[in-house]
Amino acid sequence: MSAAGRVAELSAEFTAPVLDVAWLLCDRHPADRVAFMVVDYPDAPSTLSFGELAASSHRCARALQGLGVGPGDRVATLMGKSTDLVTLILAIWRLGAVYVPLFTAFAPQAIALRLEGSGARVVVVDPDQRHKLDPGPDLPPDPERRVVVAGAGAGESLGDAWLSDLVAAASPEPVPSVTTSGDGPLVHMFTSGTTGKPKGVIHPVSYIAGWQIYLEYGLGVTRESSYWCAADPGWAYGLYAAIAAPLAAGVPSLLLAGKFSVEATWRTLLEHSVTDFTAAPTVYRGLRSSSVPVPRGLSLERASSAGEPLTPEVNDWAGAALGLAVHDHFGQTEVGMPLANHHHPELARPLKAGSMGRPVPGWSLTVLADDQDEPVEPGVLGRVAIDVAASPLMTFRGYQVPGQSDAKFTADGRWYLLGDAGRFDADGDFYFSSRDDDVIIMAGYRIGPFEIESVLAQHPAVAECGVIGAPDDARGEVIEAYVVLRRGHDASPTLITELQDLVKTRYAAHAYPRTIHFIDALPKTPSGKTQRYLLRRGRRDELSQEVR
Ligand code: ATP
Ligand code: MG
Repeated sequence: MSAAGRVAELSAEFTAPVLDVAWLLCDRHPADRVAFMVVDYPDAPSTLSFGELAASSHRCARALQGLGVGPGDRVATLMGKSTDLVTLILAIWRLGAVYVPLFTAFAPQAIALRLEGSGARVVVVDPDQRHKLDPGPDLPPDPERRVVVAGAGAGESLGDAWLSDLVAAASPEPVPSVTTSGDGPLVHMFTSGTTGKPKGVIHPVSYIAGWQIYLEYGLGVTRESSYWCAADPGWAYGLYAAIAAPLAAGVPSLLLAGKFSVEATWRTLLEHSVTDFTAAPTVYRGLRSSSVPVPRGLSLERASSAGEPLTPEVNDWAGAALGLAVHDHFGQTEVGMPLANHHHPELARPLKAGSMGRPVPGWSLTVLADDQDEPVEPGVLGRVAIDVAASPLMTFRGYQVPGQSDAKFTADGRWYLLGDAGRFDADGDFYFSSRDDDVIIMAGYRIGPFEIESVLAQHPAVAECGVIGAPDDARGEVIEAYVVLRRGHDASPTLITELQDLVKTRYAAHAYPRTIHFIDALPKTPSGKTQRYLLRRGRRDELSQEVR
């Protein structure tokens, strides 16, 4: 079947006027096929088949029903990756309720923003996360919120219910199937907060279709794959690429519990003969800059990354270390994954340095001029935009808070502006330049921090870096770099000159960083994205301290 045919088929499946999400994601698949393999060192891995998932999610749905959860209600989880987590997510959807993911690295303030923003009445929490839900200055008390503790067994639990008790007491009868439509709400989540306060987005059921297409064409995953998406399901990429899309496609998905560690990543890739791997660039950078050697005997065939620019030093390393190139894919919480260097054999092409690829089937993108809503010629930098009418997988209509959507669509509604600056070449391959908020304008030139960061990161002393524009009377802005050094390297005037020369020779003579700061760590979102606005703010705070 052609890619366009597959788009039409999946769009029809996920936009039918009446549909049953639990059937689409679970019940229609063979009961004995593995849905998830959960790896949680030092324990032995556990698997969950589609049949087991169907049965456990029915029981869990009964337990949630007992708490009054019904269609449209928001249910949040603050849980690590586990069979309990995937069971709960499916149970929530079985009831026509709406899932609110909370990432386990969140502090109470981030949790409060999402609980209050979504209006979640039930939160299911792992015992080791429970303290974060104690009312305090960051999380005001809410007498109507029910806290349910996941995990095994009874015990002291501050008067909360235990999920296992609720499940044990619930009716063993399957819940009747609840139907919804493609427009029905599925997930209430929030953008990553890389550029400021996270924005609430409500994903309809049909949003999954775009992720299934991405799984099949972008990632190139098939039933034969040993597939692992290392992103956390607290974020759109992890929730859809590791859970919802594999469920929809009936593809087994590996989940590694716990925080990122280089050792556990290599061990899992090796022991589970992972053929298809995807992770944020920060994971690849962590593997690269670690002293832990790459194990021999990996089975990797396809590696992908998304969520942040894939700086070129990753592929300089991956070619030798992994024997393949990492394919860069581009997406955002609002829309899903519209651009990719596809792995699917029909769409795969030789990679071009620095390109995030072409539109995924079902998407049509262009670059609009900065000063008018018209597409530019190849090579011209502008605003990356989605042609809404020509993108059948586009489901985003606006944020939860409507005013926030104003800047996202052109006045005629034809184009959706991703908020990213970039260009495409004559072949239609797209290149990321910067987020609109991060663009540096120096003496009238637009400079994307990513291009300078990419050059700096090639220096052997550099582990990671962030580049911002600093105000300058003469030029408007000048470039300033924040550099984290690799272990064994020290800051020195010689190193500063080397880094400046590197940018002058590999990027542009005028665009070198005038100031370089060496810092221990970059400010990042819990999902690992560099928050340049905090570097800018930190800079302002520092300056105001000097003035005082
Ligand atoms: P917020 O909108 O709250 O500031 P965020 O934009 O980081 O946070 P996400 O939806 O998680 O929230 O991220 C989407 C953004 O991440 C994209 O708009 C783009 O800026 C960036 N991004 C994602 N993939 C890539 C990629 N492959 N290359 C460059 N940038 C990427
Ligand atoms: Mg964004």
